Amino acid sequence: MEDNLITLTIDDKEVKVKPGTSILQAARQVGIDIPTLCFLKEINEVGDCRMCIVEVEGRRGFATSCVEKVAEGMVVHTNTQSVMEARRVILDLIISNHKVECLTCPRSGNCELQELAKKFNITKVEFPGEQKETQIDDLSPSIERDSSKCVLCRRCVAACKNVQEIGAIACINRGFESCISPTGEASLNDVNCTFCGQCIQACPTNALHEKDTTPEVWEKLKDPDSYVVVQTAPAVRVALGEEFGMDIGTNVTGKMVTALKRLGFDRVFDTNTGADFTIMEEANEFIERFKENDALPLITSCSPGWVKFIEMNYPELLPHLSTCKSPHQMFGALLKTYYAQKENIDPEKMYVVSVMPCIAKKFERQRAEMKNNGLYDVDNVITTRELARMIKQASIDFVSLGDTEFDAPMGEATGAAAIFGTTGGVMEAALRTAQDTLTGEDLPKIDFEQVRGGDGIKRATVNIAGKDIKIVVASGLANARKILEEIKNGEADYQFVEIMACPGGCVMGGGQPIKSSKIRATVDVRKLRADALYSIDEKSTIRKSHENPVIKKIYEEYLERPGSYRAEKLLHTTYVEREKYKM
Ligand code: SF4
Ligand code: SF4
Ligand code: SF4
Repeated sequence: MEDNLITLTIDDKEVKVKPGTSILQAARQVGIDIPTLCFLKEINEVGDCRMCIVEVEGRRGFATSCVEKVAEGMVVHTNTQSVMEARRVILDLIISNHKVECLTCPRSGNCELQELAKKFNITKVEFPGEQKETQIDDLSPSIERDSSKCVLCRRCVAACKNVQEIGAIACINRGFESCISPTGEASLNDVNCTFCGQCIQACPTNALHEKDTTPEVWEKLKDPDSYVVVQTAPAVRVALGEEFGMDIGTNVTGKMVTALKRLGFDRVFDTNTGADFTIMEEANEFIERFKENDALPLITSCSPGWVKFIEMNYPELLPHLSTCKSPHQMFGALLKTYYAQKENIDPEKMYVVSVMPCIAKKFERQRAEMKNNGLYDVDNVITTRELARMIKQASIDFVSLGDTEFDAPMGEATGAAAIFGTTGGVMEAALRTAQDTLTGEDLPKIDFEQVRGGDGIKRATVNIAGKDIKIVVASGLANARKILEEIKNGEADYQFVEIMACPGGCVMGGGQPIKSSKIRATVDVRKLRADALYSIDEKSTIRKSHENPVIKKIYEEYLERPGSYRAEKLLHTTYVEREKYKM
């Protein structure tokens, strides 16, 4: 209501905002840009770096606009000479401590520090001096840390602690020796890190990044003896275009397939087909357990960061975890068996690459359990960002590409599989199949609105075949912990639980295009990408996994039925209890 609004003036503009609004937010509401560095909306609002300082009339010294709240009659100046000079000194000092290597840095062009340097017309390092010793942590299969690119903004620490409630990293040591690291300067490989990659998404520079495994892909593409197959996850197709300047949430499936073919992959398949298998197996597992009232709730297992989390933190609840492998692992296992046999390809020569929105999948693919006949199901996982870099490296003009279809016979997928990429999607897809299986009918009810949307926890009761089923969907590890505590303490009687490590699900995975703090504060990235997936689902002619003709054929020809001996061998897995701070 107008009466409750606060009126202030920012750079001679009258602004009316709600009480409790920060000066930064108020300025952005009227299109006034204030630079920030450590600010990350709702995650890190501490005013540490002081890039966002402004002058407030009647006040001595500067105010940090990301934390300072508006007040009635306040007069703010965001761009005075003294503000600009003070910001410039702050930036000069940060840059003096930074190993400036923009020419060879993967974040060049999407780096908030580089952007600030451009904005402030910084053309030389003002205070060159002693640089800290560089620490590189590249021991994990998923994530790398390079201290020489760190600006000590602590956005990663806040993402890990406040969003995920893991606390794997902190700002350690003091003064000149300060750095971001796990306690005791341990490797991220040896602590309670889940490889969710949310710290990478938070990082304004290249100090945290995925382990780049594209060189091995290039090697295999060059090797005439290798049969190189690629598969792409649902969330990749609604984000890849962003790396080429397209709108957030643009569906670029056809262009992506064309680009993958141009890169030289022998076959381009859709992980969505793997997701349909996951649904077949998981729905079957749920029905079995539901009928027997055994090991309920069943908890989904397709998010490897989440799996590592439960293995480390709640091993006593592992019997609840679905034994289903994640979609790309199931698909890899079928490629090296069913497909290899059918096409007469030596599985030893087959090299399966998964393009994923996730860095934890790099860890997952090399788990000892993800092997069959001595061969890994999947040989390499690259992220959406790495695929974009490969496309750029090959000088492919992505935006102007035409559309190509996925290869047959393993390229057909349903709308149910498409929504795997967003929180609630796995649950909804599984319910579609479970209800038809339990009733023996082709039910017209397809949409389960209760599990849609961006809330971190969504609880509902759905009626299937005359029975009420209590379900809950959680995304983000802090929310996962809440649900596990409820289950452990007997405070809830859920029967089916979906958990994803990343807040919002795979569309917001650690391997997806990184959005600046400003975009994250002003655009609902999750919703735009998720809406694109729901639109793919709506437009699909087949929207239930069990109606996919490819799935039916492969069960008929090879797997027999969900939960069969062969399905168990290829498509299911086991888990391990991990020491909390050790891999
Ligand atoms: S992190 Fe940013 S500023 Fe630093 S070298 Fe990379 S692109 Fe340049
Ligand atoms: S990958 Fe996830 S758990 Fe590991 S340090 Fe980053 S935010 Fe924390
Ligand atoms: S690693 Fe990145 S997010 Fe973390 S403090 Fe350094 S620059 Fe900031």
